[in-house]
Order: sequence, then C-alpha cells, then structure tokens
Amino acid sequence: MGNVIVITGGGRGIGAATARLAAERDYAVCVNYRHHQMAAQAVVDAITQVGARAIAVAADVAVEQDVIHLFETVDQRLGTVTALVNNAGILEQQMRVEHMDAARLHRVLATNVVGSFLCAREAVKRMSTKHGGNGGAIVNVSSVAARLGSPGEYVDYAASKGAIDTLTLGLAKEVAEAGIRVNAVRPGFIDTEIHASGGEPHRLERIKAAVPMQRGGQAIEVARAVLWLLSTEASYTTGTLIDVAGGK
Ligand code: NAP
Repeated sequence: MGNVIVITGGGRGIGAATARLAAERDYAVCVNYRHHQMAAQAVVDAITQVGARAIAVAADVAVEQDVIHLFETVDQRLGTVTALVNNAGILEQQMRVEHMDAARLHRVLATNVVGSFLCAREAVKRMSTKHGGNGGAIVNVSSVAARLGSPGEYVDYAASKGAIDTLTLGLAKEVAEAGIRVNAVRPGFIDTEIHASGGEPHRLERIKAAVPMQRGGQAIEVARAVLWLLSTEASYTTGTLIDVAGGK
C-alpha cells in the first residue's frame, strides 16, 4: 500500500501547495476544504491530470462528525491514512484583546485547536501500532505568532498556535512508541489569502521590512518543510518545531 495523506484546508494557500507537492512525492492526497469547493477541486484536478490520486472532501474540522466522516471517506476511497497535515486555520479582523467577544474566541479556538486535536485523534487511531496500524507521521501547521504574540492584531490566533505547539510536544511523546512521529512547522509571514481575513490583504508589504530576509515567504517554501518532516529523511525527528520564517 502506498502513502495516503490528509491535508486539512488543502484547497488554498499553504495547504494547496502541500497537496501538490505531496502528489509529486507519490502520496494519494485527500484535499479537505470547508467552504471553497471549487478551489479544492482545482487542486484535485491538477493532481489527477498528472496521473496521481486525489479526492476533495468537505468537512469543517471544528465539527466532530465532519472529522469522523472525513477520515472514513479516506479509508474507503484512498486507503489507510499514513500522513496528516493539520493545516486548516483561521484568523479574524485585527483588533486588541479588549475588544474581542466570546463568539470570536470560540470560533478561532474551535478551528485552530479543537479541529487539530480531532484530526490528530482520528489519524492516531488508524496509524498507531498499538491499534493494529503501521505507524505514520503528523505535521501541525503552527505559526511564529505562537512566540511573537501578534499584539494589536490577533492575540487569540497567536494563543491558538501556542496550543498547537503544545499539542505537538505532548502528542509526539504520547505516540512515539506507537510508530507515529508528530512535528510542527511555524511559518512566518507567507503570501496567502489569510491576511485578507484580518482586514489587511497587503499586510506583507507593510511588515516585510521587519523580516531579516526582507521578504514574505511563499506557500511552497512551507510545503517543502512539511514534506521533509513527513518523509523517512526525518525518521528520527519528532516533537520538533521548525520555523519557516526568513529569520523572523
Ligand atoms: P488560507 O489561504 O486562508 O487557507 C486556509 C485554509 O483553511 C482554506 O483552505 C480553508 O478552507 C481552510 N479552513 C479554514 N477553516 C476550516 C475549517 N473549520 N475546516 C476545514 N478547513 C478550514 O490560509 P494559509 O495562509 O494557507 O494558512 C494555512 C495554515 O498556515 C493556517 O493554519 C495558518 O494559521 C498557518 N499560517 C499561515 C501563515 C501566513 O502568513 N499565511 C503564517 C503562519 C501560519 P476553505 O478554502 O474551504 O475556506
């Protein structure tokens, strides 16, 4: 059986770049999406046109039944998952903490934290040698925001990524004996549509001078780190956080 990868939020941005690179590296690819079906289907079409296997599956990672359905669909259509990229993530309008309401906090934490936990749970159930699986690898997409804090923009988002770092450290130790490696990438400022969600589509232009390399990153530069962490090249690497942030 070949490698089967689930990439949450795989239709756009970093997830889409990861999906395309995974296909080049001989994974059968599940492109999960929440709203943008056409974007996810375009990634699937690009992959299948070069002869690789891919499917698009709708699921809101914050909804437990959706996540269960996502992994059951992968079982049936691609085979047992061997790699998970917990990439789906959101941020909301830039504001200070003193203006954030509970509904916003719940939304951000539900997708970024609860969603990553639920997907990790379903992957571990299938990968763990203690449950009869053959092992696997998980990469969580965190952010340098976890250590910078994102003051004045989205401290809630930054805190959610702090939780992802801790999930990575804890889960890596929990499942190391079960043949599963768990790592994270922490991107810096990457050129995707996520910045528009914060109300500033051209955010990178404003802040790139604060990056030692004097530029924002591209999604493919993050995808390459993700695919390395998933590969056997990283066979002794677990519980590690890799910054992909131009020195920021
Ligand atoms: P993006 O272009 O806005 O894409 C986000 C993706 O997540 C979309 O495919 C979206 O699906 C999906 N998504 C959002 N909520 C979801 C949910 N509840 N269930 C399933 N899918 C959901 O963002 P990006 O910049 O590529 O970000 C990808 C990851 O990298 C995120 O975790 C983000 O926090 C992290 N990151 C990004 C940067 C950056 O500068 N761009 C920096 C550090 C970390 P739909 O297309 O269906 O909406």
